[in-house]
Amino acid sequence: MLAIGLAGLMFASHASFARQSAASTEKMQPAVEPVPALTPFVEEHAHFDFDEKNPDAAIRAALSALGRENASMLIFQISPDVYDHPGRYDAEILLAAVKKHPGKLAITGGGGTLNAMIMQSVATGDAGPAVQKKFRERADELLREGVVGFGEMTAEHFDGATPYQTAPPDHPLFLLLADIAAEHDVPIDLHMEAVPQDMPLPAEWKSPPNAPRLHANIAAFERLLSHNPRAKIIWAHLGYDNTGYRTAELDRRLLLAHPNLYMEIKTDPQAPGLNYPLGADGRIKPEWLKLFTDFPNRFVIGSDQHYPEPKGQDRRWQETILLFNQLPADVRKKIGTQNIAAIYGNSVATYLRAAKN
Ligand SMILES: [Zn+2]
Ligand SMILES: [Zn+2]
Repeated sequence: MLAIGLAGLMFASHASFARQSAASTEKMQPAVEPVPALTPFVEEHAHFDFDEKNPDAAIRAALSALGRENASMLIFQISPDVYDHPGRYDAEILLAAVKKHPGKLAITGGGGTLNAMIMQSVATGDAGPAVQKKFRERADELLREGVVGFGEMTAEHFDGATPYQTAPPDHPLFLLLADIAAEHDVPIDLHMEAVPQDMPLPAEWKSPPNAPRLHANIAAFERLLSHNPRAKIIWAHLGYDNTGYRTAELDRRLLLAHPNLYMEIKTDPQAPGLNYPLGADGRIKPEWLKLFTDFPNRFVIGSDQHYPEPKGQDRRWQETILLFNQLPADVRKKIGTQNIAAIYGNSVATYLRAAKN
């Protein structure tokens, strides 16, 4: 109870949370409560900010968020990283604690190791049999340990919590990962800025640390999707577009062409990106609503929220749920939980099939 009360106080300090509850602000209520999801959902893309002195803080924060958000489950992703980044970690850092809460928490793996191996291979040019063997061994190890998918991987990632990273999406190790994912019926979560053709780095971003020019990646992404049609690939961060090319038109074309492609919805009012799905009035823009309703089986909620919620970055889940709540009820149920059950393997799906919507 105390935790919920404190969280309520934190949220109360952010008046803009009230977008969907203008009526209640008019009544001059003293505190603005967060708006939970109308129907249960799975937060499929969350992160944890690990504190060595308090290793369970992220677990406690995530568990207490479930009720407040009306989330039935939360899946942690491991940020995509490179070997020489101090503080690099992978799923093992939280895996044992996550496994104590089956059906409520789950975790993917590979962001700190498999992704780092891909970046290393891009740098050295070596993707030979020895490198591939090591890569497969590490992927198998993560699966044995109990990760529910491979993530967060990246093919184009601007400098942020982890360094700038780029790799061709059809790199031999990505193709190998698709085969491993298909064999084990687990998805790959991929962070990739949309770059249909070579282009300069957008002016808002600095180089260095980012590359001055970005290499085209959509055609190579399509080769990855076609390489193994049984590999389920989730393209992260619809709603967080930093190149201007992640349009509803591009997403529609790719969804039509590739039945194994899924997308995560992320809307962050503090970093709205280009082609933002919400208008200034907070309503879903028509072209995005049409996309979600035309392909109801292909989207999930992945707000990129960190736990414990960092001050100033605590609104991602809320903005994403304000979008979610506007979806037609049948579409909302699919995007909320049913699609997760279809995309993820049995370790996740068993709980969701049993859960009531
Ligand atoms: Zn990401
Ligand atoms: Zn992420």
